[in-house]
Amino acid sequence: TPLEWPARDLASHRVASTPGRTAVIDADADESWTFRELDRRVETAAREFQELLEDPLEDRLGLLLDTRPAFATLFFAAMRLGTTVVPLNVRETTAELAGKAERTGIDAVVCEGETESAALELADKLDGVPVRSVDEPTSGRVRTLAVGDAGDDAAPPVEPAAREPDDTQLILFTSGTSGEPKGVRLTVGNLVASATASAFRLGVDRGDRWLCCLPMYHMGGLAPVVRSALYGSPVVIQREFEPRETARALERSEATGISLVPTMCTRLLEAGWEPPEWLRFVLLGGAPASSELLERCREADVPVHPTYGMTETASQIATATPAETAAHKGTAGQPLLFTDVTVVDESGEPVPRGEIGEFVVSGPTVTPGYLEAERTEAAFGDRGLHTGDVGYADADGRLWVLNRRSDRIVTGGENVDPGAVADVLRSHPGVDDAAVVGLEDSEWGERVAALLAAEAGSVGLESVLGHCDDHLAGFKRPKTIAVAESLPRTHSGTVDREAVRTRLLESGTDVSTWS
Ligand code: ATP
Ligand code: MG
Repeated sequence: TPLEWPARDLASHRVASTPGRTAVIDADADESWTFRELDRRVETAAREFQELLEDPLEDRLGLLLDTRPAFATLFFAAMRLGTTVVPLNVRETTAELAGKAERTGIDAVVCEGETESAALELADKLDGVPVRSVDEPTSGRVRTLAVGDAGDDAAPPVEPAAREPDDTQLILFTSGTSGEPKGVRLTVGNLVASATASAFRLGVDRGDRWLCCLPMYHMGGLAPVVRSALYGSPVVIQREFEPRETARALERSEATGISLVPTMCTRLLEAGWEPPEWLRFVLLGGAPASSELLERCREADVPVHPTYGMTETASQIATATPAETAAHKGTAGQPLLFTDVTVVDESGEPVPRGEIGEFVVSGPTVTPGYLEAERTEAAFGDRGLHTGDVGYADADGRLWVLNRRSDRIVTGGENVDPGAVADVLRSHPGVDDAAVVGLEDSEWGERVAALLAAEAGSVGLESVLGHCDDHLAGFKRPKTIAVAESLPRTHSGTVDREAVRTRLLESGTDVSTWS
């Protein structure tokens, strides 16, 4: 069928080329849609947006939805009209959500059954912006937003907005590991550049299917949706990660790839998961993967692709292949096509290969800036975006991510790498995991403090201290230690260092007094 309007967005371009291919597989409902069916749903949703929003090109639409196929429909519908989408974290409190929504200036909220009451509370804090639900609403204040049906053939088609690559499409919040989450503007061009560069690193096979079980309000969860439209291959959507369920979904859907954060990968392996032979890649990112996890992946034949990325770059910056991982365990691989990474010193000058510094990144995936101009100004220098991440590039240009600039501990004038101390602690047989932070100290400026993850009763403090004496210089030894069942983490799987600090301040043992 000829197009009524020029194809201007990802979904309409895709339906023009491969309408009959599968676009979305719902892993929970065992349902699937072709690109034609997806496009019809997108039309229906776009028509609803035209009614809901005063000015679809200017307005910002909050999405309070967990990972589900409707998310993809809403996202492509917003793309069609040029509406900026603001995915919101369904696990946050109303106060947290309201803060973000106010900073962004949200004009309407789309929710689902499980988030309806939160969406209403949020709307109350935002002068009563309209709320629509993709499920049957329970409150009379919420109207239905039709996304489930494949649309009315007789209805006039929605005229797509003319869009430029530099137009903002998405405002996504960072995980808030280092402070208040930052609102990142991402353009249509950023999203397409990221999906393209990802394809050059991972390859695209005719039978590819990418399973997504990460939250779609993070870039790692949303990226497979964009890639699906670009590659013409299905995205398999699973609402929630659960080791056995996810392993089953991989089998049933014959998914060839999956994105995971390290904790998820560990849990899959602990549940006895054996990757199906058709699995091409596990994109492992969002947080550092321990060498123990990489070793277990090697033993279990997991086609692991360790990845370094961030919200500000629409996901991947660098990705290592399994062969690279085997030969250079711990690397995040080389930067993706057109992404430039410079390692700089404190004064912003590039350092030689092999030397440690901060990663500065530039290229077509890099955000034009944050919501707040001051933040943008503070983060961008002559060479690009200062990531705050510390590491080095080896002789072949492979990146090694060590820690964050803000994590570095300066104690008595000495620099301490918290990652190196954590590695030593983890090598103690009773310690499962460790996080090392600096705590304010009147004598030393900062003192090294460690939170250990260990099974109750399985680790004696004295034996840990002995281990530290054997492997660490005096100034690097933790002076405050606490033990917990597991480390507190953000929703994306990174260690929540603020929570670690709080825990240590509340219940840490001051070991300097009894050694
Ligand atoms: P905030 O910016 O609010 O502090 P955040 O940086 O955790 O939060 P994200 O954008 O979700 O928010 O995460 C990107 C960060 O995650 C990177 O800057 C880096 O610090 C960390 N990260 C991602 N991949 C890796 C990796 N392979 N190794 C080490 N760290 C990683
Ligand atoms: Mg960050």
